[in-house]
Amino acid sequence: MKIICVGRNYRDHARELQNQIPEEPVLFLKPQTALLLKNQPFFIPDFSAEVHHEIEIVIRINRVGKNIQARFAHKYYEQFALGIDFTARDVQQRLKAKGLPWEKAKAFDGSAYMSSLLNCADYSFPQQPVPFALSKNGQTVQQGNSADMLFGIHQLIAHISQYFTLKIGDLIFTGTPAGVGSIDEQDRLELFLQNKKVGEVHVK
Ligand code: ZN
Repeated sequence: MKIICVGRNYRDHARELQNQIPEEPVLFLKPQTALLLKNQPFFIPDFSAEVHHEIEIVIRINRVGKNIQARFAHKYYEQFALGIDFTARDVQQRLKAKGLPWEKAKAFDGSAYMSSLLNCADYSFPQQPVPFALSKNGQTVQQGNSADMLFGIHQLIAHISQYFTLKIGDLIFTGTPAGVGSIDEQDRLELFLQNKKVGEVHVK
């Protein structure tokens, strides 16, 4: 299983980090060891003084595919979730400044949280856009809507599968809206889909 992540897929988030709007999806990977195990807290790693939350819609792949055309992409998933792409922003800024890969900032142990899986059919997703939000200690810090993705889910699957064969169980983190910010020990992060809580993470 692998985790494929999309960067800069919401205009307002690309702007808040002073990044250009991309002409094609920005991709990076997290290994299986990045997945935060169910009901485990997120531990801030020793190598970072500034870990950010990034709430994202996550798609779970359910068929093997390579070079998938966008018009067939809907056949390759039937469940989704909300997730958090935990990012060591200080480490990432240092790596970006030197033109180096981001993995130390993005792919470390526990850096990928995912809620329980939801059935796309129950939400008519993605035909019907879904609003989602992240709260930190009861305060809303990020709000997004799947309709605002620069590259939609079917475009992403088509693009990603040109480079990486998709396999059953692979996860696609589809990018974060604006409002990313740092987390501290004892923070409580809650994820909401259409105002319904679907996940929670405690920071240690
Ligand atoms: Zn992200």
